[in-house]
Amino acid sequence: MSTATLNNEVENIVAPAEIPSPSTLPPLIENPIHENGHQNGRAHGAGEFKYNVGADLNANTPTGPIEGSWDKHKFEMKLVNPANRRKHTVIVVGTGLAGAAVAASMGEQGYNVLSFTFHDSPRRAHSIAAQGGINAAKNYANDGDSVYRLFYDTVKGGDYRAREANVYRLAQVSNNIIDQCVAQGVPFAREYGGLLDNRSFGGAQLSRTFYARGQTGQQLLLGAYQALMRQVEKGAVKLFTRREMLELVVVDGKARGIVVRNLLTGELETYSADAVLLCTGGYSNVYYLSTNAKNCNVTATWRAHKKGAYFANPCYTQIHPTCIPVSGEHQSKLTLMSESLRNDGRVWVPKKGGDTRPVSQIPEEERDYFLERRYPTFGNLVPRDVASRAAKAICDEGKGVGSSGLSVYLDFADSIKRLGESTIRARYGNLFDMYARITDENPYQDPMRIYPAVHYTMGGLWVDYNLMSNLPGLFVLGEANFSDHGANRLGASALMQGLSDGYFVAPATVANYLATNEFAQLSNEHDAFKASANELQEKTNRLLSINGSRTPTDFHRALGHIVWDKAGMGRTEEGLKEALQQIPKLREEFWNDVRVSGENGNINQGLEYAGRVADFLEFAELLAVDALHRDESCGGHFREEHQTPDGEAARDDENFAYAAAWEYSTGTPILHKDHLKFEHVKPSQRSYK
Ligand SMILES: Cc1cc2nc3c(=O)[nH]c(=O)nc-3n(C[C@H](O)[C@H](O)[C@H](O)COP(=O)(O)OP(=O)(O)OC[C@H]3O[C@@H](n4cnc5c(N)ncnc54)[C@H](O)[C@@H]3O)c2cc1C
Repeated sequence: MSTATLNNEVENIVAPAEIPSPSTLPPLIENPIHENGHQNGRAHGAGEFKYNVGADLNANTPTGPIEGSWDKHKFEMKLVNPANRRKHTVIVVGTGLAGAAVAASMGEQGYNVLSFTFHDSPRRAHSIAAQGGINAAKNYANDGDSVYRLFYDTVKGGDYRAREANVYRLAQVSNNIIDQCVAQGVPFAREYGGLLDNRSFGGAQLSRTFYARGQTGQQLLLGAYQALMRQVEKGAVKLFTRREMLELVVVDGKARGIVVRNLLTGELETYSADAVLLCTGGYSNVYYLSTNAKNCNVTATWRAHKKGAYFANPCYTQIHPTCIPVSGEHQSKLTLMSESLRNDGRVWVPKKGGDTRPVSQIPEEERDYFLERRYPTFGNLVPRDVASRAAKAICDEGKGVGSSGLSVYLDFADSIKRLGESTIRARYGNLFDMYARITDENPYQDPMRIYPAVHYTMGGLWVDYNLMSNLPGLFVLGEANFSDHGANRLGASALMQGLSDGYFVAPATVANYLATNEFAQLSNEHDAFKASANELQEKTNRLLSINGSRTPTDFHRALGHIVWDKAGMGRTEEGLKEALQQIPKLREEFWNDVRVSGENGNINQGLEYAGRVADFLEFAELLAVDALHRDESCGGHFREEHQTPDGEAARDDENFAYAAAWEYSTGTPILHKDHLKFEHVKPSQRSYK
């Protein structure tokens, strides 16, 4: 194992005087970045931000021509005889698209499935919020699409930081997903002639996005939910709602169970199985303000990480260009205006900075359609990272609109003139209504005002081609894993990935794991379960006993400010180093001064939330370390030091063509590299001009 210093330089960073010595640290806090006692060393000016480099990872990608590799792999994997399937129990945590799909599929196959969610119904999973659509290479629009083109666009869109074999499989399986969902009755929009309709999303020059108005996630989730409930009805899947997974239980090196808190009674419950599948979504809410549902969090994946699962690319965050701008300090959530709107909406700002004239008084020649100007080929449909950065740059030049100057126009006037208001209403009616309700402005009359916001996290637990983490028996699906989108996800490909993982990939690869491993009988009385439950109980007692003066929301908001300012749309070495000083300090304050009211023995949402904020406070530090170590720009990770003369992300393929998978350590984190090879899509400077 070798040791590296972040940015390969030795930096002596003097910690602020307020950082207490380790003896004053609350005992439950483990500092994931520094050696034990190292923090104290830093206070004396001796410390460096270090990470160790461990062994490279093997992604278990199949060999041979990429076009046939998934079929070949499926053939080579072992099957479980139908009569033996009911002898295996699998735990699925999460009932969003990934979780509902895999639980339904494995239930249908005859496995004994235990399905968990902290919601009161699987239908409340965050997937329900997805608006714009789901990609597939059906080529119904007959405009030149193919599996290979979807694969190519996705690898390029991810700025050459995704694994080719995974992405190729995703593109192949995309077509099965549409068939499966249509068979379930998902009401995709149709052309007059009966074929499913398609629209365009960023990063593609054709139409391959299937949609159900602006409610695609809702309709897909209802399809997956009914498939899941059919299995619940049959007794193949046992559904546990209002349960929050707080610990992964590892026995003899294998994931064998979980500990959950019953959110109605406060009791800790333990469940054992032969495999555990985490489908627990993304961690955008580490930024406090994001387009994600308020309940989305990092707890399940972070706690699995602390039990040994590697966390990959935590710094890859997607900032979505079209969201309703922030309106005040006490706002708790941001609202997405779907990317699909860029099919018909044109993005512009006044050419002159500080122009406060009403839109109707700004003549056409005084408007700067900056995306169309800068990227004539893709125009308003450049990928999200590119569009977001362009919007930020134009606002930084002082040309932004609205009272804060932090927004740009998304204008439908031309489309309404060309197609008529009724067509626009049919395509996006619910999105326009949502905008009108939130802003009290009429987007049919005046342009929408939009600004980038945190939306999706490409990072997640590291998985191999089989979606298995480095911990045998722990599989990770959907947004919770890091697998398919590289450094930037193209629009409409998260739903595709969640359903590909859930309906098609994991049912085959988990079966192979079950068929090729032996499972010792395990009781919930095993010491590993008891130890995890005791640790959790202690943590809960501690949270309830601090009785400080600040709410968990207060800490979360403060963390969000740090992460957004220093590790948001633009990142610098200096800013990240500041974040690495500020985050531990804030975490310290949290454990000394948080106030969690109520008690443990019944519903206590404050307590639930405090636990999640505590995890965000640890995770944010790893995010900043990862961003600091990745001394290049790629996709959504924009290090301001590394840009092309045009202001685009400048990659360093020689040194960073790998997924960074971090191993947890109470001392220095350990980096494992999953090297990326590009045999089909040659890495080049991404251009959408
Ligand atoms: C506003 C919005 C619009 C979007 N629109 C699109 C779109 O048009 N197209 C597209 O492709 N993508 C879109 N996305 C992204 C996409 O919706 C998500 O990436 C995807 O739905 C995630 O699905 P998932 O199954 O991985 O996780 P989720 O749907 O987030 O489900 C997570 C599940 O895990 C459970 N869970 C989490 N932690 C725990 C725990 N500790 N214990 C128990 N249960 C737990 C939750 O209860 C939930 O059931 C959009 C995202 C947003 C925010």
